[in-house]
Amino acid sequence: MTNLVLQHGLSFADLYDRDGLVRLDRAFVARLAETDVGLHDRLMTARRDPEAIERLEDSNLLVDLAPHLEDFVGGLFGIESEVRELQARHHELAPLYSVKRLFVQRRAVKGVKEADAVAIDGPGLARDLDRLMGAPPGEPIPQWERRYAEHVADWLENEAGNAEALDIAQRYAAWATLSPEGGRKHRRGVLFKVPHRLDMHHLVPVETVERDGVTMLRLPEDDWRRRDGFALTDRGTDLTGALDQANYCIWCHNQGKDSCSKGLKEKDGAFKKSVFGVTLAGCPLEEKISEMNLVKARGNSLGALAIVAVDNPICAATGHRICNDCMKACIYQRQEPVDIPQIETRTLKDVLAL
Ligand code: SF4
Repeated sequence: MTNLVLQHGLSFADLYDRDGLVRLDRAFVARLAETDVGLHDRLMTARRDPEAIERLEDSNLLVDLAPHLEDFVGGLFGIESEVRELQARHHELAPLYSVKRLFVQRRAVKGVKEADAVAIDGPGLARDLDRLMGAPPGEPIPQWERRYAEHVADWLENEAGNAEALDIAQRYAAWATLSPEGGRKHRRGVLFKVPHRLDMHHLVPVETVERDGVTMLRLPEDDWRRRDGFALTDRGTDLTGALDQANYCIWCHNQGKDSCSKGLKEKDGAFKKSVFGVTLAGCPLEEKISEMNLVKARGNSLGALAIVAVDNPICAATGHRICNDCMKACIYQRQEPVDIPQIETRTLKDVLAL
């Protein structure tokens, strides 16, 4: 590890040394001046007087710098092709999230009741779609959903010419999203989902069972995870799930309403409390979560991790299974919040895997 060869005449030991880090910073600033002089000037202005910079300009500066930093760090460690490959995996998944928002949620399920969805012949429409999309028999749901999203995105380019295919896709989406059978089929997918309303007194969907005269609460069997020794039973989300959440976020820093970071406030400026009396102060580190989500959604994992590290340099000790103050204070208070810890942890894992 200590023999890593770095660019710019730097050694691995330099990364632990102030003078080395100063040289590293100079190399980054020089590269930025070559590639985007306007952004370089904004960074220099902000550095000259950090107190004078407005919060939104601070956020925009970090978001705009993120892809440049990602390129630079990729070059520094000689992992440019791995970084590009990771970016490409993000971009390949992009149709899932645009089709989910614009076609499934805004169009297919609009005005459709569960009873209407149940009456739709979902399996029959799935066979029609398999034929139209050239799907192999028994294709796993995540791959099938990607195939569906890519085809719908293509068909939407010429709605009049693809009216029949779009009608089938639309009716299938209503069935898959709203009917219990469709929900079961796509339980492990991300495409056919609408945010559910929160029932604060029933947050964990337990059911009551009686065994040997003892009444117990338990999760539905589909949600059981088998314990094997002391290993974790929850591996956390994959990239598809993390990007689903990053795209569900509405990037509230643009309106100064990123309560996940700053907390939810009453009119008098005090923090709101949840129905359980928990203070909704948001992330104690005021991590720039909205900005992280935006940069991750754009496909820049290294850039997103860099934004996290500004306020939370030891983020390996936060995230999924560790903390969720941010999530409790998300702007979505009546429907399920953005699963921020999953995004943060997936981002860290994606970078560590480079
Ligand atoms: S996580 Fe929630 S509060 Fe934070 S920016 Fe996204 S939508 Fe807004």
